[in-house]
Amino acid sequence: MTATRVLVLNSGSSSVKYQLLEMTDESRLAVGLVERIGERQSRLTHTPVATGGERRERVEEFADHEAALRAASEELEAEGLGLDAPELAAIGHRVVHGGRSFTRPTLIDDGVLAEIRRLVPVAPLHNPANLTGITTAQALNPGLPQVAVFDTTFHTTMPEHAARYAIDVETADAHRVRRYGFHGTSHAYVSRRTAQLLGADPADVNVIVLHLGNGASVSAVQGGRCVDTSMGLTPLEGLVMGTRSGDVDPAVVFHLVRVAGMSVDEVDELLNKRSGLVGLCGDNDMREIRRRIEEGDEQARLAFDIYIHRIRKYIGAYCAVLGRVDAVAFTAGVGENSPPVREAALAGLDGLGLAVDPAANEAEGPAAEGPRLISPRGARVAVAVVPTDEELEIAHQTYALVTGAGRHRTD
Ligand code: AMP
Repeated sequence: MTATRVLVLNSGSSSVKYQLLEMTDESRLAVGLVERIGERQSRLTHTPVATGGERRERVEEFADHEAALRAASEELEAEGLGLDAPELAAIGHRVVHGGRSFTRPTLIDDGVLAEIRRLVPVAPLHNPANLTGITTAQALNPGLPQVAVFDTTFHTTMPEHAARYAIDVETADAHRVRRYGFHGTSHAYVSRRTAQLLGADPADVNVIVLHLGNGASVSAVQGGRCVDTSMGLTPLEGLVMGTRSGDVDPAVVFHLVRVAGMSVDEVDELLNKRSGLVGLCGDNDMREIRRRIEEGDEQARLAFDIYIHRIRKYIGAYCAVLGRVDAVAFTAGVGENSPPVREAALAGLDGLGLAVDPAANEAEGPAAEGPRLISPRGARVAVAVVPTDEELEIAHQTYALVTGAGRHRTD
């Protein structure tokens, strides 16, 4: 029997998301989520897509990731899709930080685990949870190939002049301080899918990808290779996000420590959790912000304007970085679903060849599903909405690695 299925695991600090995919037709066989791991009332939701069964929910205590993954594997098992099924080719793990070490998806062994562990100081929130997911999955089926797919990999092609901060080289190198970038799986998938939408080879297309979700980043992709991205050493740099500030003068940190008497941890918490849209207006959901703007709320309006201004600065910067831009692609929760954000981000940029067709941008229903163009006919630069699919991309990269196929198909 050929093994044609891949289980994708995305382990966060208190949650595990999983999807089982059949690679011959890219269909989802099962989708699930375990939340609030470690709390008294953890919750598992499991949707058995293949059998068309009802969504199931279990509320009980899953003390740790091992208990959570065991429960998920029981749910899969109940439909004959367990971790020991011969059809399962591999498990693909999302790993947030691969540093400079991992320039491609990698089959996990002890050396790889040690390297992911070595990177914990630069990804203290994410890599430990990713590691736990991997070791737990290994314990459940020790013989199964496990592959790490890194958020940073797509950005490892950034030239040195984009990846380095202008700080003392010895200090930077000693502590691995440089720009790594994140959301790479999404930027890779969306840039390739955009080229496909244009009927072009990714190698011939330059794309600016705007991943606008609760976390947000933008990348400049030249002929399929990332040449710059807005996130840096950590996912704090760049765009205004749901709760993160994005770019600030680094001296803001010294100022708050020296003048406001805040500790470094307090500033860290401020910039990561109490800034961005939430810090500016108290809400981070774009739907709520738009609703408040329509009611004349000035604070929400200003938050929106700051958010958009930052996006426009990056679009301008990446037009200059790329020289020639063939497409701008919007993706993730806000990018895929918010016509006012797309409209405001590109308003008045006709001089750069950028424009949005109002009817296409605001379309609803079936016309607003799947990858689509929203630029006017004959526009110099294509503007696209391309739903991201990080799980499918992780599954592709995992499957390609374990079957020895090319790095990935052109989709
Ligand atoms: P993500 O991190 O990609 O899941 O995106 C989550 C964010 O997308 C939410 O915080 C909302 O701000 C935004 N979002 C989701 N659905 C919509 C929608 N229908 N319209 C506008 N924004 C949305």
